[in-house]
Amino acid sequence: MFGRAPKKSDNTKYYEVLGVPKNAAQDDLKKAYRKAAIKNHPDKGGDPEKFKELAQAYEVLSDPEKREIYDPFDIFSSFFGPSFGGGGGGSSRGRRQRRGEDVVHPLKASLEDLYNGTSKKLSLSRSVLCSKCKGKGSKSGASMRCPGCQGSGMKVTIRQLGPSMIQQMQQACNDCKGTGESINDKDRCPGCKGEKVLQEKKVLEVHVEKGMQHNQKITFPGEADEAPDTVTGDIVFVVQQKEHPKFKRKGDDLFYEHTISLTEALCGFQLVLTHLDNRQLLIKSNPGEIVKPDSFKAISDEGMPMYQRPFMKGKLYIHFTVEFPDSLAPDQCKALEAVLPPKPASKLTDMELDECEETTMHDVNMEEEMRRKAHAAAQEAYDEDDEMPGGGAQRVQCAQQ
Ligand SMILES: [Zn+2]
Ligand SMILES: [Zn+2]
Repeated sequence: MFGRAPKKSDNTKYYEVLGVPKNAAQDDLKKAYRKAAIKNHPDKGGDPEKFKELAQAYEVLSDPEKREIYDPFDIFSSFFGPSFGGGGGGSSRGRRQRRGEDVVHPLKASLEDLYNGTSKKLSLSRSVLCSKCKGKGSKSGASMRCPGCQGSGMKVTIRQLGPSMIQQMQQACNDCKGTGESINDKDRCPGCKGEKVLQEKKVLEVHVEKGMQHNQKITFPGEADEAPDTVTGDIVFVVQQKEHPKFKRKGDDLFYEHTISLTEALCGFQLVLTHLDNRQLLIKSNPGEIVKPDSFKAISDEGMPMYQRPFMKGKLYIHFTVEFPDSLAPDQCKALEAVLPPKPASKLTDMELDECEETTMHDVNMEEEMRRKAHAAAQEAYDEDDEMPGGGAQRVQCAQQ
């Protein structure tokens, strides 16, 4: 619900800053603030940070509504005055090491790349810490707390919606781009103009190893964008296997589609297959062997190499489609019948056959047929829905159309 996790109970800080008890009356608050403000005024050599703290504490406690919210909910102390957390100046906060984000790039790889292994040089642009200022952004290495957000990097607006309801909105501070720091113009690092980081072109050599899978990650630890006080994230390449015109891959196995003629299916075939490493494989049927339509054959150790065990390989499966001739001439039929196994003999006599009804078969596109039937069924369901409220009247109308 809230942007920040509740910190330690901290709803006395503002009172401590002003040096008054928690039950101090408004008059006492005012007096205490005036006294402290005069003492700490920057024009009189006072600490500007301390002065700002005083002003913020007084702003909250002098407003009865804000004071009421501040008192019961310690969690709000972090909304009102996030910069008061440490109490010991700017160095105590914002120095925690965040982890930078990983940068993810897709890496297209052909099946040949994944079979043979390859390396690709990729040029990337990344942020690196400015070497002149070591990522400080200033010549002196010093920075001030951003006056816009008191160093929190966030700006919080609180709206009272009702007696016990408030809405809080938190946004990154515009003045400091969420860093909580600002750098004096004169102290700005000339190398990075106070930005702390510079853009650098970097060429990475990515090794695509034999047998890598689709979506496998190749990680370059700590090579992502650098940022101050941040553990640099990784650059991650995700292998994206490209479609191959001939081979399909399933895990470590390869699939190859091959269409043969009916004559090849019956009398033998031979195929020269160019593999992913350009070797030519001679694949042929055994003498007398018939290849049936929609059948598979496997060749061991001609599939994909296994990742990190490239001497082990999967299988190469060949899927056969048999193309039949569209028609045969009567003498071709006779020739075939002479060599093929005989047709099953008819169990009926010629007389009995004469009594059967003649039929005519026609070609049909089964997919088309099924689509039309599904459409008609859907239309009927729709029509029935339509007539629900009105009873049977509409059906009669439909039937008449
Ligand atoms: Zn700011
Ligand atoms: Zn710099």
